[in-house]
Amino acid sequence: MTEKTVHHLKDYQAPAYLVSQTDLSFDIYDSHTDITAAVRFLPQRAGEPLVLDGSAELLSVALDGEAVQYGLDEKNGRLTIANPPSEPFTLTTATRVRPSENKTLMGLYESGGNLYTQCEPEGFRKITYYPDRPDVMSVFTTTITADKARYPVLLSNGNQIGGGELSDGRHWAKWHDPFKKPSYLFALVAGDLAVSRDTFTTRSGREVAIAFYTRKEDAGKTAFAIEALKNAMKWDETRFGLEYDLDIYMVVAVGDFNMGAMENKGLNIFNTSCVLADARTATDADFARVEAVIAHEYFHNWTGNRVTCRDWFQLSLKEGLTVFRDQEFSADRANAAVCRIENVALLRAHQFPEDAGPTA
Ligand SMILES: [Zn+2]
Repeated sequence: MTEKTVHHLKDYQAPAYLVSQTDLSFDIYDSHTDITAAVRFLPQRAGEPLVLDGSAELLSVALDGEAVQYGLDEKNGRLTIANPPSEPFTLTTATRVRPSENKTLMGLYESGGNLYTQCEPEGFRKITYYPDRPDVMSVFTTTITADKARYPVLLSNGNQIGGGELSDGRHWAKWHDPFKKPSYLFALVAGDLAVSRDTFTTRSGREVAIAFYTRKEDAGKTAFAIEALKNAMKWDETRFGLEYDLDIYMVVAVGDFNMGAMENKGLNIFNTSCVLADARTATDADFARVEAVIAHEYFHNWTGNRVTCRDWFQLSLKEGLTVFRDQEFSADRANAAVCRIENVALLRAHQFPEDAGPTA
């Protein structure tokens, strides 16, 4: 067990180093995954040490391609470079993780033979060394290499900009997310998954690909969620003037997941219970929940992802606003008065007792 650290809002300090570009490469093998992270740092207060969060096995560190002195505090999960340059520089770290041994469902982990990530709030530091805080935002490029038979599907945030075969039965895919994001919105999925495809045409006429990934036996249970997504995309355009901004929107369903769903930019990862629905087994309430959660995660694309929080004390801004938006959506889709009564009943049953208790 790691010791708990108490954070106070009054201790907030703007980051001493911002990041302009994060280039990741994941080499996936049966027993482990090797990660190389090339991170372009922009000094904001030159002279201060560069302190990165991380707990993965560290293989190497280089600064602008040269060996560099560093301190590693494994107990507190910190990598420190005492005297980095005062001009922008690139730090390249190599790490190794073992997803099959990661039972926390945070960072990169294995479920049913496939690999998934969960990074909110502090899972990215289990993958590599990084300023793992929401006010450091970067453009990400991610290259994934793995055995093609075992991991035919290789996904990350943004748009796919490359891919191909390698000689040894392996293949690769390269993804680029042009929108700056904090590390908690990073996602990667690799595995053998079925895909259900559709498209959505935005109000400005762009065609967005829609892809829902599931286990093969669940492929027939995505139709309702895909329709819910298209309704949410249309509603956000007409109600709030917000249009989807990437070429593809992906949802991946996984059985082992800490939460209901996660709004990673362009690559949502869902607990199967919040995406799969089949008229033979699901109740009306199940369908309503799938529609609400699909919409909630989609609405985060703007309230949370494009406009994000400065620190975790601001979590309620992105969550409160996005819950408000999904409640408005559900009210427009069904009966507004009934939705409001249900929302208030839920608040009284769960939120009020929590606010009156020790975890307020
Ligand atoms: Zn949310």
